[in-house]
Amino acid sequence: MLGAPATGKSTVAVELVAGHVDDGVRPDQCLLLAASRRGAARLRDRVTARVGGTSTEPLARTFPSFGFGVLRAAAALAGDPPPRLLSGPEQDVVLRELLAGHASGESVGPQWPERVRLALPTRAFRAELRDLLMRAVELGLGADDLRALGLQHGRDEWVAGAELLREYDEVTALLTPGAFDPALILGAAASALEGDDDLARSVVGSLRLVVVDDAQEMTPAALHLLQVLRSVSPGVGMVLLGDPDSATQTFRGGDPTLLAREWAVLGDGPTVVLPQSHRPERLRDVARSVAGHIGVVGDVGHRRAEAVGEGGSVGVHLLRSVSQECGFIAARLRAAHLLDGVPWSDMAVVVRGQSRSAALRRALQTSGVPVTAAEAELPVRDEPAVRPLLALLQVVSDLALGRTEDVPVEAALDLLVSPLGAADPVELRRLRRTLRRDELEAGGGRTSDELLAEVLLRPAVHDQLGVEGRSIQRIGRMIREGVEACGASTGEWGAGVTAEGILWAMWDASRLAGPWRESALAGGAAGARADRDLDAVLAVLRAAATHAERLPGSSPEAFLHHVLGQDVPGDTLAARAPAGEAVSLLTPQSAAGRHWPLVVVAGVQEGSWPDLRLRGSLLGSQDLVDVVRGREGGHRAALAAVRHDETRLFHVAVSRASRSLLVTAVRSEDEQPSPYLDVVDPLPDDADRRELSDWSHPMTLPALVGALRRDVVDSDPRRRGAAITSLARLARDGVPGADPASWWVLRRPSDDRPRRGPEDPVRVGPSSIDGFGSCQLKWALTKVGGDGPTIGQRDIGTLIHEIAAEGDRDAASMRATLDERWPRLGLPRGWPTDHKRRLAEQMVARLARFFDENSAAGWSRLAAEARMRVVLGRVVLSGSVDRLDVRPTGEVRVIDYKTGSSKPRTADVPRHAQLGAYQLAVEAGGFEGVDVPRNASGAALLHLGKAAGKSTSMQVQPPLGDDEDPKWAHDLVVGTGELMAGATFVATPSDDVCRTCPVRTSCPAQAEGRAL
Ligand code: SF4
Repeated sequence: MLGAPATGKSTVAVELVAGHVDDGVRPDQCLLLAASRRGAARLRDRVTARVGGTSTEPLARTFPSFGFGVLRAAAALAGDPPPRLLSGPEQDVVLRELLAGHASGESVGPQWPERVRLALPTRAFRAELRDLLMRAVELGLGADDLRALGLQHGRDEWVAGAELLREYDEVTALLTPGAFDPALILGAAASALEGDDDLARSVVGSLRLVVVDDAQEMTPAALHLLQVLRSVSPGVGMVLLGDPDSATQTFRGGDPTLLAREWAVLGDGPTVVLPQSHRPERLRDVARSVAGHIGVVGDVGHRRAEAVGEGGSVGVHLLRSVSQECGFIAARLRAAHLLDGVPWSDMAVVVRGQSRSAALRRALQTSGVPVTAAEAELPVRDEPAVRPLLALLQVVSDLALGRTEDVPVEAALDLLVSPLGAADPVELRRLRRTLRRDELEAGGGRTSDELLAEVLLRPAVHDQLGVEGRSIQRIGRMIREGVEACGASTGEWGAGVTAEGILWAMWDASRLAGPWRESALAGGAAGARADRDLDAVLAVLRAAATHAERLPGSSPEAFLHHVLGQDVPGDTLAARAPAGEAVSLLTPQSAAGRHWPLVVVAGVQEGSWPDLRLRGSLLGSQDLVDVVRGREGGHRAALAAVRHDETRLFHVAVSRASRSLLVTAVRSEDEQPSPYLDVVDPLPDDADRRELSDWSHPMTLPALVGALRRDVVDSDPRRRGAAITSLARLARDGVPGADPASWWVLRRPSDDRPRRGPEDPVRVGPSSIDGFGSCQLKWALTKVGGDGPTIGQRDIGTLIHEIAAEGDRDAASMRATLDERWPRLGLPRGWPTDHKRRLAEQMVARLARFFDENSAAGWSRLAAEARMRVVLGRVVLSGSVDRLDVRPTGEVRVIDYKTGSSKPRTADVPRHAQLGAYQLAVEAGGFEGVDVPRNASGAALLHLGKAAGKSTSMQVQPPLGDDEDPKWAHDLVVGTGELMAGATFVATPSDDVCRTCPVRTSCPAQAEGRAL
């Protein structure tokens, strides 16, 4: 039975079963087969609702599920343990281990052709290999057949693949007896039925009717199984329903020609064409014209189905960029929901490719369009919330079995900053400081990393850590509960302990389920993350449960090994967060068999739709299918086959809409729209290219408020009036941003008093004078915390200053100190830290060189880190100098160490504010506790960091008295102090300073800050 989309094929399938049941056939004598598990679930619901009552066997199943049922029955009859299915990730693990074994020389591998050898360790190669092996098995080829075909057609890769297939079969049979590869099931089930009359009688003997829905997705193995069914149970009626133009599983071996032509091997029944489409005319026409570009594989009568009536809307839109396309779609969906009352769940967006789909998901979510949860894209072990859980399982196992008494430092740090620990950098730094302080007071010398790892196992101190200790408390609790759940004693696991039990104990102890759930329900970006994290945790718990069921008695570590070895995402039917009222975002494959009143087909770009890359081209899996099925081979034929398959996918996508269809694409310098657009909506004869569509802003409240606020200052008084009225209404309803009272631009300064009263002293630090001079606003805002926490570089600078202050030593001795103190910085492992370490070593080397040269020049050290304080009216200049040197003649020079990468221009050094302030302090005798001659002979910047360059590392400022205005430093300090005490701080933009300014977003001189 052939039918175009929406001609009621599935309804006919359901009614066929229902009709038989009405005629007295028992429901379990009918078998309804679907192409996918979701399709089977939908059919099952419909049949159950239509027929009523219950049945011992599922009323609708997939082919593999039916085949698996046959194998299970066969095992039961033979008294064998029940068979089980190898999952996709498990297959990948087996292949990876085989290939790794060959690469390491542990076993002799096949002779792969030279051109693929470099690809052997990659995941992409394994995907190709799996594809080749699965195709071969589905075609009923054994290792010998594949080898013979390879030799016959000169395909070395098939010969090598045959050898691997043999090894793969042996290994899976050995490692997991009774485990079946999905591709193998149908062939194995057919053989079992053919070879065992008892089995055939008991499993299919009573069948009266077999109905195959979406039969265009059948593989040769599926058709063969039907053939066997007919032969062992000749009285069974068979109906195949489908549309050869709507196949979506061809990349997995589905072959629409089986439905179009080759079904005749099952019998000589009539072909019936369903005449009536339930789509309005416009949408029927689109589906028909797309189908017209698909190669004919048999009868095409179904393409002529009548439409249900006039109407239906179709729109094709070109946008300038992907972000505009996403915004456009969000706006159209919101308009449909808000203006036309279309429920979210009546809309779907069909898109190909993960990156496009991810961009769309983000754009829709930020525009307030609820979207259904994403399918798994990562192997479960790589999910951010699962990685730490698995690491904890390892830690807990090691502790419980007594293999270690400590938490490894690296694991501890990873756990604390993971989604489970959720420590932020500031928290972690405070923790480090607290722990280090206690350690030093107790006379210990361990690094802060070691202390963090150690404190996890000391619950007694957890409560003393205050709010910063949250992460320590949580991870510590999870470890304790996990170890307890292991129930281990004397290095053995407790009886009946499973990975699932330990994971649950740890998850409960985390007490994160509630907060994550609340966050997920609150929505937004954080909500989406929490939602995904919860799904991932559930997935790993489920995986642990399945593992325990499949391999009773296996240890928690076996599960760990199993899940860590998986490189590909698992496929799951398990319940996810309920879709509820949300727009479905799907691939054409997952949209097949369903329909929505409004469907958007997005990202219809040249190169990606159709994607004409040849499938399985590396190992020629498609060629194998063609050779075996006697199709015309060759490059052109292969290309044509791919084009037709791609058009089938597009046909499925556009035919999902029952009322309105929108097709969108981008035309930009990088991307061109697909020729499919012209098939959906042909250009008029007089137009040579499609116009770009206007992008309307998303219909969200923030966008509306923004637009109205712009209109408030429009030159047209009517527009202004309308905007004011609308804003007032929104403000009354409490919409954020509508009330002028919340507009920053209208706020008056909350306090215009100066920072210091007229008589109050003002402290000026020598190092802040330059910064204040370059931009007063930056100084004022960073002074009150605008630059956030500092990590890394500044700490290294502090360490170098500390080493330099401990006396003039040689490079080796200072390096030893650096080695000893480096871990204190608590920097993570990796190349950025290695790089910083090399820089620190260079600084120490430069310092040692300076010490030598300095003493050779007659200078000796008078003091380091000397405190200074000079009172100049109400301005107090105070701070400390890195180093004071003196010569036998009594001359004094101040040295300031610089560890950064920039240095002042030489011309600016004579009036360098910080150096001037130091000289002022020398002349004023402003040093505390050091007897410094008042004979300043200059001051210098000693560059130890990248700024040192190769030639000079010292910039010297002459004595103040040599300047034409010897009082410049005094006046600068006093003037700066007065301005610092004032009420106004001027923003002074300059390329140099603004580029790295941390307070740009609050600066009126910058576009991003002006918005305030
Ligand atoms: S962005 Fe530039 S002008 Fe604005 S505060 Fe920062 S440094 Fe000053």
